[in-house]
Amino acid sequence: MTGPSTGKLATLACVLLLTASIAAASSPAAITAHHARPQEAGRLLLAGATIFDGLGNEPYRGDLLIEGGRIAAVGPAGGLEIPAGTPVEDLEGLVLAPGFIDIHNHSDRSVVRQPRAEALVSQGLTTIVVGADGSSPFPIDEYLREVDAAGTAVNVAVTVGHGMARRRVMGDDFRRPATAEEVASMAAIVREGMQQGAFGLSSGLEYDPGFYSETDELIALAEIAAEHGGFYISHLRDEEETVMEAIDEIIEIGFAAGLPVQISHIKMGNASVWDRSSEALAKLEAARGRGLDITADWYPYTAWASSLSVVVRSRRFADPEAVAAGLAALGGPDRLQITRFEPDPSLAGLRLDAIGRRLGKTPVEVYIEMMAAGGAGVIGHTMKIEDVNRFAASPLVMVCSDGGIGSSHPRGAGTFPRVLAHYVRDEGILTLPEAVRKMTSMPADRLGLADRGRIAAGAAADLTAFDPTTVQDHSTFERPELLSTGIERVWVAGELVWRAGNATGAGPGIALRAPGTP
Ligand SMILES: [Zn+2]
Repeated sequence: MTGPSTGKLATLACVLLLTASIAAASSPAAITAHHARPQEAGRLLLAGATIFDGLGNEPYRGDLLIEGGRIAAVGPAGGLEIPAGTPVEDLEGLVLAPGFIDIHNHSDRSVVRQPRAEALVSQGLTTIVVGADGSSPFPIDEYLREVDAAGTAVNVAVTVGHGMARRRVMGDDFRRPATAEEVASMAAIVREGMQQGAFGLSSGLEYDPGFYSETDELIALAEIAAEHGGFYISHLRDEEETVMEAIDEIIEIGFAAGLPVQISHIKMGNASVWDRSSEALAKLEAARGRGLDITADWYPYTAWASSLSVVVRSRRFADPEAVAAGLAALGGPDRLQITRFEPDPSLAGLRLDAIGRRLGKTPVEVYIEMMAAGGAGVIGHTMKIEDVNRFAASPLVMVCSDGGIGSSHPRGAGTFPRVLAHYVRDEGILTLPEAVRKMTSMPADRLGLADRGRIAAGAAADLTAFDPTTVQDHSTFERPELLSTGIERVWVAGELVWRAGNATGAGPGIALRAPGTP
């Protein structure tokens, strides 16, 4: 139990010990029982599963012993010394993998309100990272205490949001570069968040208020994250016409601030940049060649969900010419589906061209009126499958949902099973060991969590068991809430939170604080 009341020095020492034992336990055959205490509570043997270690290694048929919320031992089936009387869970025919980690999730508030988190655990998730796109709770420690008090099914980590800090400092007067004084005030907020356990700095530069920031402001704040061992993760300034320049900007920030960086939900967002995914990946590889630790995350859909404003890059939302150009770059107004429009909820689900026909207006007129009425939530069906698949296959790209509990996009309930079903089983774009790595050790390593995202003695017993022949997402753009099937069991800290289609109601998840949090 690493709750907030645990002695900080003890926690740190524990993390160091675990790191050492994980490093030592690199090959499954060499792993033996680890601090075997005879009366350890919560002992359980998971027997006969096909074990994927999360590191991309070939699977093997094995047994895994859970004790006190941790993996006490793991090895080839029948090869472990098991204390008499240990309960056994037969996992014959199932894959056993580390619990999945979603590095870009929007369940900040909803996971506290709905701690059973069915949309998450039904996908095999055991840890989510919130505070995405520059929008985070604050104060961070207050939020993390709320998570701990809620008894969530999953663990929750947080990044501190640039947009949140900018809004707190500049209020409604954010449509301009910040002054040096204002940047200093934002830096103080980021520092406080990092000191309280945030894993890094997030930004959402296509949104208010992040859109108006200059690169130097972001570098100054990323430097604070760097001082605390954090990383910088960004919804880039643009994912469409100028996405290549936006990638250059995050690379510049990474080098200037001296920290690892990650591109959120990497995509070639509209027709103007279709087929340029190889070029984007080449930029990442070149930056890595020059010493920058840069990675990206990605979700397995050809449509994005965002706000209506992102369509018009110049932000001249009332200028018919700019709006027409924005809609043309998408590939046409039929590619834009409204998900939420408060003045008239009946428009939800309709495409912009259909709304125009209903109202007797052009799509450009509809766009201008909706923006004037406060904007809308949209899904843009504007990505090309070849680009989506090329990002999927890159070893630099991990899986994220960019969704959350109650998401209006199917990615919120379907992302992780969809990768296993579609990208691994049906299309063969990813091998299963590689797909599991992209869902486990890759995000864990980005977070600096040496004791999660892998199956090894000493690691947290956050585990997912699934049937690779049946695992399937069911959420659609019409029914985004439909849960996936085929994830058979999920354990968090050795406690079962999901079994055969139902949340158990257990809440063993904790608020995770970044390694080295004082
Ligand atoms: Zn985003």
